Amino acid sequence: MRTRTTVWQLPPCIAVAVLAFPSALGAQVTYDVSFPNAAHHEAVIMLTLSGLPPEPIQVLMSRASPGRYALHEFAKNVYGLTAVDGAGRPLTVRRTAPSAWEVGAHDGTVRVTYTLYGDMGDGTYAQIDPSHAHLNMPATFLWVRGHEQEAIRVRFQPPAGSGWKVATQLVPGGDPHTFTAPDLQYFMDSPTELSNYTERAWVVRTAGRADTLRMAVHHQGSEGDVDGFVDAARRIVHQAAAVFGELPPFDHGTYTFIADYLPWMSGDGMEHRNSTILTSRRNLGESAPALLGTVAHEFFHAWNVERMRPRALEPFDFERANMSGELWFAEGFTSYYGRLLMIRAGLIDLPAYARGLADGVSHVVNAPGRRLGGPVDMSRQAPLVDAATSVDPTNEANTFVSYYTWGAVLGLALDLTLRSRFELSLDGFMRLLWQRHGVPEIPYTLENLEALLSEYTADRSFAADFFDRFVRGRDVPELEPLLARAGLDLRREDPGEAFLGSVLLAYDDAGATLVSAPEIGSALYAAGLDRGDVILRLDGGPLRSDEDWRRVLSRRRPGDVLEIVFTQRGFQRTAALTVAANPRLAIVPIEALGRDVSPAARAFREDWLGARP
Ligand SMILES: [Zn+2]
Repeated sequence: MRTRTTVWQLPPCIAVAVLAFPSALGAQVTYDVSFPNAAHHEAVIMLTLSGLPPEPIQVLMSRASPGRYALHEFAKNVYGLTAVDGAGRPLTVRRTAPSAWEVGAHDGTVRVTYTLYGDMGDGTYAQIDPSHAHLNMPATFLWVRGHEQEAIRVRFQPPAGSGWKVATQLVPGGDPHTFTAPDLQYFMDSPTELSNYTERAWVVRTAGRADTLRMAVHHQGSEGDVDGFVDAARRIVHQAAAVFGELPPFDHGTYTFIADYLPWMSGDGMEHRNSTILTSRRNLGESAPALLGTVAHEFFHAWNVERMRPRALEPFDFERANMSGELWFAEGFTSYYGRLLMIRAGLIDLPAYARGLADGVSHVVNAPGRRLGGPVDMSRQAPLVDAATSVDPTNEANTFVSYYTWGAVLGLALDLTLRSRFELSLDGFMRLLWQRHGVPEIPYTLENLEALLSEYTADRSFAADFFDRFVRGRDVPELEPLLARAGLDLRREDPGEAFLGSVLLAYDDAGATLVSAPEIGSALYAAGLDRGDVILRLDGGPLRSDEDWRRVLSRRRPGDVLEIVFTQRGFQRTAALTVAANPRLAIVPIEALGRDVSPAARAFREDWLGARP
């Protein structure tokens, strides 16, 4: 289907008038948010409920956030919590759990006031400072058990003279700083940025609908930087819509990109139903290609995970972690498409695209964690690894393989197999999934995905084999012949290069400390070295710099044996290291190797990677 787009800029006042959504001003749940101490990262939030029966109420802070898979104790940044009734009389407040408070008998109205501290600007937490209030809702707002279905109204009061505007997927509610949400799930899925951001908007028409795409960019660059960024984002949107034949039917006809590219942010990207949060400490002008990769990934999520959703993620639980064995698809296939949209949109070239594929394939093929489980097992570990910083170290490098990377490699393998063997494509499969599970939204299971692949290919044994070996199992599909169809050569990057292991080293006068643990199968692991050990001498010389390390590797060949002297937990040890060959894989367009690309390979490439009209 052809997509016609037009672009114009909407000043914020018009944007509000144009987007006149139905509001829910009769809501019983209201939040009032102010920032009297923004320099010290505090917001003051008042939650008001009225029309209540007289029983005590239970007030909770979330422990999970939509799009994040691990638990976060957001209550740690909530303090000074007090409550009054409708007449302003103080009510008893009892903390019943680390993230729960009980407010005692009242007159039908309860006002809970608390201070929120936030200084983490990303897709999960909150950051309040004189430049903005960047609020992820579960990290910001208390909620009341039993009132999850009620409409919510939120009123923001920006600091005097700040001129802050509000970028959000929440529904505009009467004035520029008041918004509503139909229920708690939607409210919590609606991160909000208050700042003096730069705004652009454009309209995309697909499937007889007109959707408004908005871009709010809070940054320190120029208007021209934003124009270039928006132009690239429009191309990504176009290529993504071409995969499914239409944009998702956005609620209220609007999708909002909320981007913060500032030195005090942390790098992140987080998908939501009708918006995404994009954050980086990098500068828009210099880092646009890297930042656009996140735009493509998060926008593809508007279909894959926001509307075509694993059943295991429904309904989202704000108190416990949802566990899903389908994240290799929900995240991994989204990662595959993020890069694919970039090359189809002309934002990266073939060599760069091939290098990105090689990074993923190389990582998965060589990952020692693969011996412990397949993509489904790895997906189920998301609550333990997804931004789940712990105090005690883990052995993740040897026990875990990212479902993002592994899933992206599976996406590549399935796409190339569908194209080579069936004259079908992953685009076609995604479109079928969209018809069955996207409109209307019917959450899917692993079994649904397999049945759909069987239906799409009309080959039940192929689908069963793919899922048994590569999804539930731990095998990696044979990619070399598949890539060859597109004139891409999968090869060892440099099989003659000496390799001892991939570790982070910190150098000082004594030697080199292993900051990370060596991976199973490496020479360093086999020689007994581990994290925290200090290498005193390597191959007869000191090891005090990266240059020393590279010098040893460059003069040695795979199969050589060299001596390593190191200290480990108070003991000095000497061991023999057997040099291995660099296991890294490369994917190279064959023309770069001086070979001709056949017409068939050219056509295969164009069909796979070429821009959609
Ligand atoms: Zn994602």
